[in-house]
Amino acid sequence: MSFTMHGVGISGGIAIGHAHLVSHALLEVAHYQVPKNLVADEITRFQLAVDTVTQDLETLRLQLPNNAPAELKAFLSTHSMILADKSLSEAPITMIQNEQCNAEWALKQQMDDLVEQFEQFEDEYLRERKQDVVQVVERVIKVLLGHPSQVLLKAQENAIILVAHDLSPADAIQFKRHQFAAFITDVGGATSHTAILARSLNIPSIVALQRARDLIFDGELIIVDGTLGVVITDPDKSTLAEYKLKQEQWEIEQQKLRRLRLTKAVTLDGTAIELFANIEVPEDAAKAKAISATGIGLYRTEFLFMNRREWPTEEEQFQAYRQVAESMKGLPVTIRTLDLGADKQIDPDTARTCTNPALGLRAIRLCLAEPQIFHAQLRAILRASHYGHVKILIPMLTTLSELRQAKLLLERAKRSLRVENTPFNEIITVGGMIEVPAAALKAEAFARELDFLSIGTNDLIQYTLAIDRTDDTVSHLYSALHPAVLQLIEMTIRAANKLNKPVSVCGEMAGDARYTRLLLGFGLRNFSMHPANVLAVKQQVLQSNLPELTAPVRKILSLANIDKIEPLLQKLNLQ
Ligand code: PEP
Ligand code: MG
Repeated sequence: MSFTMHGVGISGGIAIGHAHLVSHALLEVAHYQVPKNLVADEITRFQLAVDTVTQDLETLRLQLPNNAPAELKAFLSTHSMILADKSLSEAPITMIQNEQCNAEWALKQQMDDLVEQFEQFEDEYLRERKQDVVQVVERVIKVLLGHPSQVLLKAQENAIILVAHDLSPADAIQFKRHQFAAFITDVGGATSHTAILARSLNIPSIVALQRARDLIFDGELIIVDGTLGVVITDPDKSTLAEYKLKQEQWEIEQQKLRRLRLTKAVTLDGTAIELFANIEVPEDAAKAKAISATGIGLYRTEFLFMNRREWPTEEEQFQAYRQVAESMKGLPVTIRTLDLGADKQIDPDTARTCTNPALGLRAIRLCLAEPQIFHAQLRAILRASHYGHVKILIPMLTTLSELRQAKLLLERAKRSLRVENTPFNEIITVGGMIEVPAAALKAEAFARELDFLSIGTNDLIQYTLAIDRTDDTVSHLYSALHPAVLQLIEMTIRAANKLNKPVSVCGEMAGDARYTRLLLGFGLRNFSMHPANVLAVKQQVLQSNLPELTAPVRKILSLANIDKIEPLLQKLNLQ
């Protein structure tokens, strides 16, 4: 049956493809007693489900297009092997027989045992395979629960659309390495880290679809309109034709934008604007270069710390930072120190144990509380500074004393390198993120002690409006245009400009071309955003005349009502 769902579009474009349901690692499985006379039926039900999944995996593997990533093939073979193992295909049968329990429960118990065994492995690679066990079991449980898996891929239509209830940033960073046509989730806010990562995949993405995972079938043909935040399931012929046309138009638009790659970002009145890129993993640096970004304005290093048990060593960090520094060939690379915690949790259990993780021990607070971890990272960044134009950026500053402590620790890291004669840039610049209202209100004081400022609008909006950026139930209230938010951003830019300290915006607002003129009117000259947004923002810069922005922007700043601001912003963008 065809139906339309609405969510929050986080990355534009149109995708048409087959749904691939990704389920939660923690399955909620019911446990019930099976009457003796029905035990045989229950066993048959279990065996049929295992057979179905075995066949599905085989079909999937055979129908993989030639250009599918090699990991995908290996991943399907591993799943088939795991499922064929007696502990999953036979042990549950004995359990159903002996304990008269339902098939799902028996399978879940076996899965838990197996996962526990995998966790004992010394070898990290083997330990990680427990995820595969969970995924295979989830597939079987889905079939058992009457969600029969249809054939996922048809040979001629190889686009896969990920449908998940939610994905942690740790999951999303893994998906970054595969090729999917689109990405949709039931929950999530527009600036949650999962959303940011999804956006960085540069494929149409929608969050906050509410019940997508329940309503969409595995393998079903769906259309994802990431620009409008709309999903259409099982489309009829005319809808399909309409969206194929839209998809082509979008591609033409993208091609036009690509022509701006080498054009200098200069406003109509001749002011040069710097457009930097945000990256999450070293490989992203290539994307930044491909669109001729001014440099890296924000390298979110926390992703190096995810999907693993041990913290990365100083050496491993150094190699990653050096790779980025070298690949940018002298262009600035702004490495942000660890911003773990809250929406970027490595261990989801920690998030559950604190009442307000966003207000808790995160980012610089965590680094100051764990000086050894900070020390290793600072040394790694400093060492990398010998190989390129590296800058340091400290997240979540709230008080000047945090900044001073961080600088002392930086000095200590420098001293330790000097003793060893390890080369680094002695005059490396240090910037701070202004993303807590307290810091924005005192931006001038921070600017005096820092070399540059970077405004993190994602958190600044969250903390100013008291709206959890990851919570879709309040995402309609999350707005960059709230007058209090605008005032804090403008104040921060003004404070930095007054002291002649460079200031940029590196939150999602910088990559949204609807806000480009407004930010230019606030006096912003440096923007940092995901590489995918750079050209659209550049187009807006090229069409803007700074002197003409002053009066309308002043008017917007004087308003107290968000409803009045929106039409004025639209007018500003049309002028
Ligand atoms: C921000 O808060 O705007 C920001 C850029 O940092 P992050 O999204 O990583 O918290
Ligand atoms: Mg932030």
